Amino acid sequence: MVDLKGQYDEIKDLVNTSILEVLETTAYINGPKVHQFQKNLEHYLGVKHVIPCANGTDALQIAMMGLGLKPGDEVITADFTFAATVEVIALLQLTPVLVDVNPDDFNISIEAIKKAITPKTKAIVPVHLFGQCANMEAIMEIAEAHNLFVIEDNAQAIGATYTFKNGKKAQAGTMGHVASTSFFPSKNLGCYGDGGAIFTNDDALAHTIRGIVNHGMYERYHHDVVGVNSRLDSVQAAVLDTKLPHLDTYNNKRRAAATQYDEAFKNIEGITIPHRNGDGDSHVFHQYTLQVKGIDRDGLVKHLNEKAIPCGVYYPIPLHKQKAYVDSRYNEADFPVTNQLVKDVISLPMHTELDAEQIEFITSTIIKFING
Ligand SMILES: *Cc1c(COP(=O)(O)O)cnc(C)c1O
Repeated sequence: MVDLKGQYDEIKDLVNTSILEVLETTAYINGPKVHQFQKNLEHYLGVKHVIPCANGTDALQIAMMGLGLKPGDEVITADFTFAATVEVIALLQLTPVLVDVNPDDFNISIEAIKKAITPKTKAIVPVHLFGQCANMEAIMEIAEAHNLFVIEDNAQAIGATYTFKNGKKAQAGTMGHVASTSFFPSKNLGCYGDGGAIFTNDDALAHTIRGIVNHGMYERYHHDVVGVNSRLDSVQAAVLDTKLPHLDTYNNKRRAAATQYDEAFKNIEGITIPHRNGDGDSHVFHQYTLQVKGIDRDGLVKHLNEKAIPCGVYYPIPLHKQKAYVDSRYNEADFPVTNQLVKDVISLPMHTELDAEQIEFITSTIIKFING
């Protein structure tokens, strides 16, 4: 699904030098590399504060802690996403409220959000799924009308942009009150271990969060709030700071691969290619995900595996049906889209090193399978 070795080989000397610098200086934790990467990412995103942390799941949890959400507060998020999103809501004893998504872009449904709001609702967590922003304009309007926080889960869409109706463009992760991201190796900006970050334009919230990531300390050995230990280590920061200048190139390569896939599949009956909102740089294709109808999806997965073509089903089970998150308040009739998507989606290899020949092999294998 990903080719991390090919990408490493291209920047090997730079990455190795940067990692060796960390080893030589022994500033393994909170070293200058972490600060440097933080500043460079703030500049890239156009956001006031980046707070690095240990992984994307922590980033979400810390963002919610920073907002002061309390047990029993309801947090609305998408039913069709990676479990980390709902996991941290539950872990903090907040009440997850899973809602359906759109059939075209797989992102949280605005109608479903509106329907799910109660007097207990305190926050909305849109997940910019597969590399494309949720409808942030509508989400921010709803949030303002109901006095809710918006926490963007930007683990899959770093470098994507969103265009508002007035033409203003913003980077994914800079529109809500706070955002989280992950630097897991296979993400669009990945390190060589675990890593994550929180973004916000709110000075006071940034201050609160900087303490939370460091055991609730604002002054050495004074613990004002209950915090956590969540750090991005300097070696990972060295990798990330080396890769950041390449992020747009990496995302362009993903988009180019997606375009070649699109061309091959666009006229094939039974296949729906991924919908792209907005203009050319809106989608950074963390995943390239087809919907297949009237085609044996699981048979296709098996066939591709036999041909040694990697593929994935993200996600095979709606979160509201996962044992950990079942809730008698949910009504199956409220999840028609997610319940269908889990049967129809298939994600194809997507990374920065795909070449035209590989894509041609993948697409022709799939088309041959469909044509029997
Ligand atoms: C990867 C991912 C996370 C979690 O990131 P980790 O760094 O693995 O903890 C959270 N949300 C979404 C949508 C993700 O894809």
